[in-house]
Amino acid sequence: MPGKKLSREKSREPENRPRPAAMGFVLPSPSALRSGARRLLKWYARNARDLPWRRTRDPYAIWVSEVMLQQTQVKTVIPYWERWMRAFPEVNGLARAKLERVLKLWEGLGYYRRARNLRAAAQKIVQEHEGKVPALFNEVLALPGVGRYTAGAICSIAFNQPTPVLDGNVRRVLTRCFGLRGDERRAVAHQGLWFLAEALVRQAAAAPGRRNCGNLNQALMELGALICVPGNPRCDACPLSLQCVARQGNRMEKFSPVGSRPTLLARRFAAFVLENEGRYLVRQRPVTGVNAGLWEFPNGEVKPDASRDCLVREVMGPGVLSLQPMMVLQHAITRYRITLEVFKVHPSRAPDAHRLADAARRATNGCWRSRQGLKRLPFTAAHGKIVARLLSADDRLRSAP
Ligand code: SF4
Repeated sequence: MPGKKLSREKSREPENRPRPAAMGFVLPSPSALRSGARRLLKWYARNARDLPWRRTRDPYAIWVSEVMLQQTQVKTVIPYWERWMRAFPEVNGLARAKLERVLKLWEGLGYYRRARNLRAAAQKIVQEHEGKVPALFNEVLALPGVGRYTAGAICSIAFNQPTPVLDGNVRRVLTRCFGLRGDERRAVAHQGLWFLAEALVRQAAAAPGRRNCGNLNQALMELGALICVPGNPRCDACPLSLQCVARQGNRMEKFSPVGSRPTLLARRFAAFVLENEGRYLVRQRPVTGVNAGLWEFPNGEVKPDASRDCLVREVMGPGVLSLQPMMVLQHAITRYRITLEVFKVHPSRAPDAHRLADAARRATNGCWRSRQGLKRLPFTAAHGKIVARLLSADDRLRSAP
């Protein structure tokens, strides 16, 4: 590919934008970019998965799907998106909704800040844009929780604007196809990838057809998800194989984005389920920090030099003693791999059960909730599984002869 710069790109470039050579690749010629964009559009027209958010041009519905898809697989997102759109079919409803209801709908998706930001952005749209998602890129970018990727996705898919997107899948495709060398996490290489993504979507905008900008961006994402996968890319089925630098020399590894993940650190926690007259002791997490504002059963970290018996007294107060194992859960939060042992706990002296349970409520700063009440509260992912176990045990008891 000749190392010539696109004249139409050049005229839009800010003076301080890095030059392609400094970014670790030779800028593809306009004809290579044009044919790449057209191949991607053609491939997407034939191979795009039929996903529910692809059947609409509603910017709000597309925005919700893009936020849910961050860090989450498509098959997980589909039922969440459908449920969300039934509950909040338009921005005004989301803006008015109670935070607890919003978090409940998000329960299990993780990264709850996304749900909070969606609601905050909906409120801003109602206040500043009369309840309509703005079409200007900078106004979309100014919404809470919306970064360059999400703004680019909304503007290109809903409004057919040539705004690029760059997620992990797109990064991998571009790195391999255009032979980007070096660590793509470095700022200069990162800018180079945005530069390529923008050059491609601008070529798509100039090609005949409708909705080319959104389709081009979705084609890149889809290609990275289905064909140009991290381990063994399916180059035989790839529309870019004829021009792919990595494929030409079978050098996928050389041109693969650096993807080393940090090692997860192991931590152990114990959670305690205390029932008193058909109600359970639960508490709400602080309004800041991990899983802010969600609900959980009283719990604490099991330190290497402390026993669970000490921990239960520390968390629940001195009146609660006997522990009955209930389940063990494994999950990961940020850089931690967490083992959560769950115990049913019982007051030490049956005659004083009610008084001791109340002392536990004060010690944990918690409150009592019936089974129906538990169903309505948004729990952290792990503690939601405890609720599910309690409810299914309850169902089994009810259906027993
Ligand atoms: S030819 Fe292979 S390595 Fe190159 S972009 Fe396509 S799938 Fe990826």
